[in-house]
Amino acid sequence: MAASGKLASFRLPPLPTVSELVKLYKLRAEKQLSQNFLLDLRLTDKIVRQAGNLKDAYVCEVGPGPGGLTRSILNAGAADLLVVEKDSRFIPGLKLLSEAAPGRLRIVHGDILTYRMDRGFPDNISKPWQEDPPNLHIIGNLPFNVSTPLMIKWLENIANRTGPFVYGRTRLTLTFQKEVAERLTASTGSKQRSRLSIMAQCLCTVHSCFTIPGRAFVPKPEVDVGVVHFTPLIQPQIQQPFKLVEKVVRNIFQFRRKHCYKGLEKLFPEARRGELTQKMMQEADVDPILRPTELSIPQIRALVDAYASLCTHEPGLANYEYREQLRLKHLAKQRGTPTDIFSDPTTG
Ligand code: SAM
Repeated sequence: MAASGKLASFRLPPLPTVSELVKLYKLRAEKQLSQNFLLDLRLTDKIVRQAGNLKDAYVCEVGPGPGGLTRSILNAGAADLLVVEKDSRFIPGLKLLSEAAPGRLRIVHGDILTYRMDRGFPDNISKPWQEDPPNLHIIGNLPFNVSTPLMIKWLENIANRTGPFVYGRTRLTLTFQKEVAERLTASTGSKQRSRLSIMAQCLCTVHSCFTIPGRAFVPKPEVDVGVVHFTPLIQPQIQQPFKLVEKVVRNIFQFRRKHCYKGLEKLFPEARRGELTQKMMQEADVDPILRPTELSIPQIRALVDAYASLCTHEPGLANYEYREQLRLKHLAKQRGTPTDIFSDPTTG
């Protein structure tokens, strides 16, 4: 059959199994690097299927480790797979894989948090933002200790169309601790609704794919793992600068069990808190006694827009940071300095 003939053309030749490689190179998992391996290729194939059709695709895999997911990506027909791995012990095994897939696997020994993905792929794969996503995917069984900071960084990259998103609306298929996956996909009113839910959903279509039980990993982590797929939206749901959105959302969720105005009022200096919070809530037409988890994205958009408009009229407001003021007050107390030396940014 033609189809299976084609499939066979990008399947890897016989190789030692991933488990054999782990034994061969004595690859004991390192806890500090959050190493939990997936050795079952049916499972790695299932993760890769969530990314969509990878035939002739460009792919960046985060943390390939012993290469199980890497094999599945190659078997799915990726034309150019760039892997970024921090732990040098995995490089020889990956080189073996690269020899088995000539010209299709590029290995970077580096840290994904600093790697410049905007330089990793040819410019001609780029697609205008308003069009379909480019044929570039990010896939990874992410290290737990890196997944949240990395996702926040990529969300900011999406907002600014930088990093992996200079090529257009690059799609991502990633694993997270189940609890983080639930936060990413949590809808209005759900217990898991958080800062991460809002930031992710205002910039992407976020789809929860399936859960992998912890026992499927070697060594077994203490938690189950969720696979999540992201497609950046053409129009973010909140059209304000990322840092400003992030500031308002962070304030909203700092007292997640209280009424939402409790967190929101901390956007403003103490002396003007009541007046400005009321103004913002009225302009946004949001009930101040809603809980943070009950706010919908359109309501949060209205709050962010109202805050942005207040900042436009009084530019000093944008510099006010409640936590920073608390820190300075605490320091001053320790040193016995009067606290009123910390001027209200809105009065100069
Ligand atoms: N992909 C492999 C699998 O599914 O079996 C390994 C997954 S393991 C959870 C995470 C991998 O990410 C490890 O290989 C680890 O060395 C690597 N890693 C950890 N921190 C990293 C970082 N900052 N940049 C790149 N790789 C990293």
